[in-house]
Amino acid sequence: MYRQIVILTGAGISAESGLRTFRDQDGLWEEHKIEDVATPEGYARDPELVEAFYNTRWSQLHNGDVEPNEGHLALAKLEKEFDGELLVVTQNIDDLHERAGSRRLLHMHGELSKGRCPRSRQTFILKDPFGPAHTCTCCIPAQRLRPHVVWFGEMPIGLDRIQHALDSCDLFIAIGTSGTVYPAAGFVDTANHHGAQTIEVNLVEADRHSQFQYHLQGKASQVLPELVDKILKGQVISNSSCDVTDSLVLKSAN
Ligand SMILES: [Zn+2]
Repeated sequence: MYRQIVILTGAGISAESGLRTFRDQDGLWEEHKIEDVATPEGYARDPELVEAFYNTRWSQLHNGDVEPNEGHLALAKLEKEFDGELLVVTQNIDDLHERAGSRRLLHMHGELSKGRCPRSRQTFILKDPFGPAHTCTCCIPAQRLRPHVVWFGEMPIGLDRIQHALDSCDLFIAIGTSGTVYPAAGFVDTANHHGAQTIEVNLVEADRHSQFQYHLQGKASQVLPELVDKILKGQVISNSSCDVTDSLVLKSAN
C-alpha cells in the first residue's frame, strides 16, 4: 500500500477538456508574445492588454463548453477514497480539478479565477472578467488587482509545501506535463532521491522521461481511471512486475 502520493498535472490533462495550451516552441501564447502577456514587465507596460488576455482565458473557462474529463474525475476519486496522504500539484491555472472535486490541490502557477493584491498578496475570487474596477479590500488606498498567475521570472507558489510532500512521498505521478519547465521538471528527481516510485502518464515520452521508473502512454482520461482503481485496490507497482494494468502498456524505463 502507498502511504503518501504526490501527483503533478500539466497542460495535457486540460487540453483533453478543450482548453488551448501554452506552446513554448514558437514563443507565442495564442498569438501573443510571451513577454507581452506573461511577464511582470509586460503587465507594467500595458495592464489592459494583459487583463484582456486573461479575460479571454477566463471566458473560455466559463462559457459552459469546458468541463473536467475522466482524468480529472479519477484524481478526485483517488483523493476521496485513498486512505493515505495525497497532494495534487497542478501547473494549470484553470479550475477543472476543483470542478471535478479535488480539494487537496496546489496551483503552483496560480489561478485564472483569482486576482491578487500586489501589495499584500491576498487573493480575491473574480466573479466577472478583469478590469480596473477590481481592487483589493486589504489596503488603503485600494490596490488594482493583478492576475493571480505566475509569470516568467516569478517564483512558483507553494514550493515549500511541495518539497515537503515530495520528501516523504512513496509514489509520484506526473501527468500530461512536458517536463521542460523547472522547478516542476525536477520533482521526479526529488521523489526518486527519497525512494518513491515514479510514473509518467503522457501521450508522448516527455523530455525527462528517462528519470521516471514507469511510463503509461496514453490520454490521461483513458489511463487514469484504471491506474486509480489499481492504487485504491492496494496494488503496488513492483519493480519485478510491470503488469500493473491489464489493458495499458506499462513500460519500465531503460
Ligand atoms: Zn491590498
